[in-house]
Amino acid sequence: MIGQARDPVCAMPVATQIARSLDHEGERFFFCSELCKNAFAWNPGAYVRRAHAADGSEEPARIIAYFSMEVAADPRMPTYSGGLGVLASDTLKSFADLRIPAIAVTLAHRNGHFAQSLDGEGRQLEHPEGWAPESCLRPLPARVEVLIEGRSVQVRGWRYDVVGLGGWVIPLVLLDTDIAENAEPDRHLTDWLYGGDDRYRLAQEVVLGVGGVRMLRALGHTEIEKLHLNEGHASLAALELLRGTQQPQVWDFHDVLRRCVFTTHTPVAAGHDQFGYDLVRSVAGDLVPGDVLRMLGGEDRLNMTRLALNLSGHVNGVARRHREVSQDMFPGYDIGSVTNGVHSVTWTADAFQQLFDRYVPAWREDPTMLRQAASIPVAELLEAHGTAKRRLLDTLRDRTGRTLDPGALTVGFARRATQYKRADLVFSDLGRLRALGRAGKLQLVFAGKAHPRDGAGKDIIQRIVRAGRELGADVPVVYIENYDLELAKAIVSGVDLWLNTPRRPLEASGTSGMKAAHNGVPSLSVLDGWWIEGHVEGVTGWSIGSASHTLGGVTDDAADAEDLYAKLALVLQLFHGDPERWGAIMRMAIALNASFFNTHRMVHQYASSAYCK
Ligand SMILES: *Cc1c(COP(=O)(O)O)cnc(C)c1O
Repeated sequence: MIGQARDPVCAMPVATQIARSLDHEGERFFFCSELCKNAFAWNPGAYVRRAHAADGSEEPARIIAYFSMEVAADPRMPTYSGGLGVLASDTLKSFADLRIPAIAVTLAHRNGHFAQSLDGEGRQLEHPEGWAPESCLRPLPARVEVLIEGRSVQVRGWRYDVVGLGGWVIPLVLLDTDIAENAEPDRHLTDWLYGGDDRYRLAQEVVLGVGGVRMLRALGHTEIEKLHLNEGHASLAALELLRGTQQPQVWDFHDVLRRCVFTTHTPVAAGHDQFGYDLVRSVAGDLVPGDVLRMLGGEDRLNMTRLALNLSGHVNGVARRHREVSQDMFPGYDIGSVTNGVHSVTWTADAFQQLFDRYVPAWREDPTMLRQAASIPVAELLEAHGTAKRRLLDTLRDRTGRTLDPGALTVGFARRATQYKRADLVFSDLGRLRALGRAGKLQLVFAGKAHPRDGAGKDIIQRIVRAGRELGADVPVVYIENYDLELAKAIVSGVDLWLNTPRRPLEASGTSGMKAAHNGVPSLSVLDGWWIEGHVEGVTGWSIGSASHTLGGVTDDAADAEDLYAKLALVLQLFHGDPERWGAIMRMAIALNASFFNTHRMVHQYASSAYCK
C-alpha cells in the first residue's frame, strides 16, 4: 500500500514512497517538489506549526474570543436566566459545527439562577439551584489575578467543551473565584447570576472582562484577533485589551477598534449597566486613568454600553428594527444589524428531526436547506406534530397533574416573566376569551420565571394563575413551574400556536418563536423584533397590531388586545376547520423561517460583516 502524506509547504497530497523527504526534530516530512523541500529547509518552524494545526494534533490558535455573562451550554449547568444565555450557547454550537476558531468566556455562577415553584395563589417561590463545576468540568491549569477593592483576587477556570457535528471543539471557560486563598466575600463573587447590588455586579464584570482576557492570555491565547462582547456586561474586556496596547503615553485605540465586536441587546436606556465613578474607583481601582475612562464611558457615570460602543469597530443590534432603535438611542455611532437565530438541531424535536432527515437530508450541516420542507406532505407534518404534542401533554400531566385535550388549539407562551412581554395581555377581557373557547376548543400553556427582584413580573404570573381559575373548563390554562431548556423545547414543539405580545419596540429580537418555527409551529405575534422580518400574514403566522413604533411612545394595550382576539378567532376557525391549510402554514413556518432564523446563518453573517474585517 502506498502511504499518503501532505506536503507541509503547499499542502498537496504526496505518496510517501516516492516523495522527497526531510527529517526535522525526529519527525519525517514529505514534499512534492524540490521547491517545497527547499522552502521547508529554509524555515521549518513556520511550516511545522501549520501542518500540525491542519491535522488537529496541535491546539489551533483561537482567534475569536466570545464573552458573555450567561451561557446556557448544558441542562446540567443552570448558568443562565433567559434569551441572552441561550443565544450565546446556540452561537457556540454553530461555531463548533462550522469549525470557527473561537473560545468563549463566562462565569461559573455556582448558585445558578434559581429554581421556581408557585404556591396555590400563583406566588413565585425561589429555591437555590446550586451546581458544582467539579462534578462535570475539567479544571484549567492557569490562574490569574484581578484587583477588587484593592484586594488581590485569584481567578481560576473550568473548561466545558461544546462539540460540533464534525468533532470540532469550542472551549467554554467558566471563571471561578471560589478558591481557598481568596478572602471569604471574594470567594462568592462568581456565585450569583445577576444577584447582589451594584458593587457585586461591577466586581463580577471585572472578573469577567479583566479576568477573562488575562485568563485567555495565561492559557496561551495571546493573539485575540477578535473580541466579541455579547452585551455590555463584558465591556471591561475591551478596556483590558486597550491596557495591553499601552506604550508609555500612547494608547492604540485603532488596534482595539479593529479587534472588538459588540452586540447590543437592550432597546431601552434604563436597561444599560451604569456605575458611578466613585464606585468604579473603589471596586476596580484605576484600570486606566480617570480622564481616559470618562472619555470612553461617559462623563457622569460609567455606561458599559457606551464603553463598548467607543471601543468596538463593529457594533450591531439583533434585528433590523432593533438596529433602528439602537441607532436612535446612540446617534453618532455606526450600528448595523445581525438578526438572531437558534441552533437548528438543538431546538428541533425528535419527531421533526426524523422527518427532516428523510425529506431534507442536508439540514443538519446546512439549515438553509430547510426551505425544502415546502415539499413535505402535510399528513406527515401533522403526524410529527401530533407526536410532539402528545409528549408535551404527557410532560404537563406528570408535572402538574392536569390533563389537557389533544384536540384543542393549544397556545403556548413561555419566556421570562417581565412586564414588557405582557404575558397577561390575552386575559384583558375574560368574557371575550371565554366566548372564543366555546366557539372552538382552546387551551393555554404558560411558563417562565420572574427575576427575584421583579415585583411586576411576579404579579403577572399571579394574574395568569387567577385568570386560569376564573376561566375554569371554558379555556383551560396551565402555568408550568420552573421554565428551563428542556421545558422550553417541549413547549415550543408541542403547542399549536406560539403567542408573543411584547410592548413595541422592547423585544430586541426574541428567539422562542424561531424555535417554534423549527417545529412547524406558527406565531401569532406583535410586530416587533424578529417577527417584523419573519412574518408573512396567513403564511408563516399572524400579526397583532401594526409595525409602527415611536420611541418613548405608548403602546395601546386595549387596541393590541382587540386585535389579538380578532386574530385568535380566525386562527381557531382555521385550526379546527381546515387541517390541510393549517398543515400548509406549518410547512411554510419551517421553509421560510427555520431556514433563515438559525445561528448557522447568523454566524456566517458575523463572519462576513465583523470577524473577517
Ligand atoms: C429561548 C429561551 C428564552 C428566550 O425566549 P424569548 O422569546 O426570546 O424571550 C428564554 N428562556 C429559555 C429557557 C429559552 O429556551
